[in-house]
Amino acid sequence: MTSRILIIGQGLAGTALAWRLWERGVPFLIVDRDEAVTSSKVAAGLITPITGMRLTVSWRYEIFYREALCFYRACGKRLKRRFFLPRGYVRLLKNEPEIAKWHKRRRDPEMQPFLHRQTPALNAKVLHQPENGFQQRHAAWLDTNSYLESSRRFFETLDSYTTADVQPADVQDDANGVEWSGQRFSHVIWAQGWHAEKHPLFHWVPFQSALGTILTVQADLQGEKRILNRGCWLLPHSDGTLRIGSTYEWQFAAPNMSSPVALGELDAKTRALLAVPIKLLATQTAVRPIIKNRQALMGTHPSHPRVAFFNGLGSKGSLRSPWLARHLIDHLLDGSPLDEELDLLQNEV
Ligand SMILES: Cc1cc2nc3c(=O)[nH]c(=O)nc-3n(C[C@H](O)[C@H](O)[C@H](O)COP(=O)(O)OP(=O)(O)OC[C@H]3O[C@@H](n4cnc5c(N)ncnc54)[C@H](O)[C@@H]3O)c2cc1C
Repeated sequence: MTSRILIIGQGLAGTALAWRLWERGVPFLIVDRDEAVTSSKVAAGLITPITGMRLTVSWRYEIFYREALCFYRACGKRLKRRFFLPRGYVRLLKNEPEIAKWHKRRRDPEMQPFLHRQTPALNAKVLHQPENGFQQRHAAWLDTNSYLESSRRFFETLDSYTTADVQPADVQDDANGVEWSGQRFSHVIWAQGWHAEKHPLFHWVPFQSALGTILTVQADLQGEKRILNRGCWLLPHSDGTLRIGSTYEWQFAAPNMSSPVALGELDAKTRALLAVPIKLLATQTAVRPIIKNRQALMGTHPSHPRVAFFNGLGSKGSLRSPWLARHLIDHLLDGSPLDEELDLLQNEV
């Protein structure tokens, strides 16, 4: 039996899987249909410890962050690129109830590793209401396009990457392995993002994917380099542009088109935060693969043991994919048990 593994999809999920196999010396073929717009290509790549309206530390952040840091640095070293960039992250509190909530939350022991000691100094010429903020430690920005592109080029040099639109019906599996395009593999791993909603073997997975839009604008932040957040986040780039996001639309007619309402809300939040003029350069929209009430799901299909699934990275693909990918590969190659919360079979509906 061959131990070569077929991966469908070269987003953040498939790329991390491929690297994990490469690290272990296991041959693989990663196949992607090379769409111009995908969730991973649009993603801002923000990695943030304290998130959301509830101001809590993101699920298993310390574990995921430690692994992501080592993983991206090692990939960067191999590819002679730096795509994992630690960044200051300032969260501004938007109103009195949020300030009151934060005064309670900030004492939680689990918060302490992520809190910067000093109150962030912000420029009132750049931001409206720059007071009432806190700066987070261990936040970062992953340059997703650089990571995906340079990884792809590397996999091409190994003859381990190809472009194709893989139809589920064209992948034949039996008890010993999988066949696609005349080639034999030990397993196939479907890492196709929200498109898995239509996969005949996985249509029962409760996807609840959300459309998201990010704006690219020109604005003079007068040297501010940190990521800023109040209602929306701003990611300044060295070329003077910044990315602003993002929207969440749970109902959508087309995967690459935001509604005027969602865009209007993002624009209003941006103008409430920024006190300087802005010029819109671009908008980008894609679908985040989210699985209802799950942080991610992985594992083999209940009646197709050679067909595996890796999905549901939601809005945390940059942070979580390195740890999650290693977890699945260890399971497939060594038989190590999957975490109950992430195991496809234990979360079957
Ligand atoms: C607006 C927006 C902002 C975001 N911001 C962040 C952020 O700041 N930080 C963060 O960590 N995450 C962010 N995300 C989420 C992040 O993008 C996702 O977690 C991640 O991209 C999911 O990766 P994936 O590989 O599972 O899916 P995808 O990126 O969708 O990749 C799937 C790949 O599979 C390919 N594919 C699908 N079907 C087939 C087939 N049949 N044959 C061949 N190829 C196929 C697709 O073309 C695609 O390349 C954001 C997402 C959006 C939309």
